[in-house]
Amino acid sequence: MLGALGVFHSLDVYRLFLDAEQRERGLKRAADAHCQPFIRRITERPGELQAELTDGQGGALMKGAWVDLPKLLAESRAGLVADGSLIEASFDPAELQVTPEGVAWRQVRARGVVYCDGYKSSQRGPFAYLPWQPAKGEALDLTSDAPQSPFVLNREGWALPLGQGRWRAGTNWEWVGLDETPTTPQRDKLVARFRGYFQRPVSVEVTGHLAGVRPCTADNRPFLGTHPEEPRFHVFNGLGPRGTVWAPTLAEEMADYLATGKPLRPDCDLRRFA
Ligand SMILES: Cc1cc2nc3c(=O)[nH]c(=O)nc-3n(C[C@H](O)[C@H](O)[C@H](O)COP(=O)(O)OP(=O)(O)OC[C@H]3O[C@@H](n4cnc5c(N)ncnc54)[C@H](O)[C@@H]3O)c2cc1C
Repeated sequence: MLGALGVFHSLDVYRLFLDAEQRERGLKRAADAHCQPFIRRITERPGELQAELTDGQGGALMKGAWVDLPKLLAESRAGLVADGSLIEASFDPAELQVTPEGVAWRQVRARGVVYCDGYKSSQRGPFAYLPWQPAKGEALDLTSDAPQSPFVLNREGWALPLGQGRWRAGTNWEWVGLDETPTTPQRDKLVARFRGYFQRPVSVEVTGHLAGVRPCTADNRPFLGTHPEEPRFHVFNGLGPRGTVWAPTLAEEMADYLATGKPLRPDCDLRRFA
């Protein structure tokens, strides 16, 4: 599906080592048998891959990819609307009724409900008891005269080249003040970090700025499964900072679990907290 929509883009990631210690750690990790298939090359000298980068400690060029989520979500939404399967409304768990047949919410009747409401599940509703650790993050869209890289730049964050001088750059981590409001201090920090990838001064014009809250969990594993006391309430959440990586596989597994009872993988099943 991703290929057909043109939203999946293979693109290497160049991890610029921050200092000698990180280089040492990076080399150790690159030598690990699990990591080796993903490493294309370790650089020794600054500018070895691309002139003008501040990669004085060298770096690791790794296989990577990015997914155009705005496009994917717009396409998915259009499909649901065309099917008549989407109701756009604010859902209040207190409005949900458990009936002998299943659940009822306004005009909707169903066998059960699956909570996939991101970090909001950490603040209210039947799954608030789980060990959440939500974390706010911000990202920028920008244009710049910086040299376009043929890879994602990665050091204390990342910068994704989108062509024609356009970039997306992120991100940061905050555990207090959880909201979806972009802030000036983080904007300035992300711009400074972006400029820091290049040896010469580069222009930056911020064209977009977003903030969101990652639904992170105490053990860095998603929360999937059924409420221990209410068998009609299910959860598909806790994807943390890696929704793009986790969601496709886990959505299949969750659908199998709901439809056929096939067990969930134990490290993601919320029964690990029983
Ligand atoms: C700055 C930033 C950068 C990130 N970068 C990456 C990355 O590079 N790669 C990656 O894999 N992941 C990344 N993530 C993490 C990724 O965004 C999450 O893993 C993913 O969004 C989780 O998906 P979700 O659908 O579970 O939750 P969400 O995306 O939070 O979606 C939950 C949805 O539920 C809706 N909702 C909540 N409550 C209600 C209600 N009461 N009524 C109706 N609707 C409701 C919300 O509006 C929202 O649309 C990043 C996150 C941030 C903030």
